[in-house]
Amino acid sequence: MGSQTIREELCKYARKTVSNKLVVGPGGNISARLDGKMYLSPSGFALDEIEPEQWVEVDIESGSVQDKGLRPSSEVLMHLYAYRVNPAIGAIVHTHPPYCIAFTLVERTLPVMFPDQAALVGKTTYVPYVLPTTDKLADAVAAEVNDYSTILLGNHGLVTTGRNLREAYYRTEVVEESAKIYLIARAIREPKALTDEEHREIASLESEAYRIQLLQKMK
Ligand SMILES: [Zn+2]
Repeated sequence: MGSQTIREELCKYARKTVSNKLVVGPGGNISARLDGKMYLSPSGFALDEIEPEQWVEVDIESGSVQDKGLRPSSEVLMHLYAYRVNPAIGAIVHTHPPYCIAFTLVERTLPVMFPDQAALVGKTTYVPYVLPTTDKLADAVAAEVNDYSTILLGNHGLVTTGRNLREAYYRTEVVEESAKIYLIARAIREPKALTDEEHREIASLESEAYRIQLLQKMK
């Protein structure tokens, strides 16, 4: 895959985050890794306004930005640190989904509640609020990315990783759906989660393995 393909794919998933209301206005940032570089959304753009050539190329090891007059997202450190500590990460999606944010205002531990969540996401972790755009947030996220692919940021939003953009993006959708379902159920009484055994069973289902494989395939 060349950088042009990855730039076009970034545009596609960036538009999906906006049309599916996972971010509003110029919030959120997305990146993908290719050959030691990451391609990151530029600062100050709504994600659905970015043209393929406007994704900012940053060298992952040195952090140096290929200067085309656009600044990378203010969360550049969060993306850089995550790629540095986990070589398996191919893409990162950071959004401000409303149900996820609402969830972090009242809870920390999102239970595994239904099969799609168990198969595509598994356990989600939580990082308490720290000032956005700082190396404190980047450090806090980097400390979790080897153990979790989905990280709720207290009073802020969500970070998901994947081997590719498709996987990272669908994880964002599934975590937002999970937070929504949890909050609806919680309004009535304590929700029933899947047991660890039920969770493991799903992971071992052949049909689910097939679905995961589908998600990992690059389009
Ligand atoms: Zn944010």
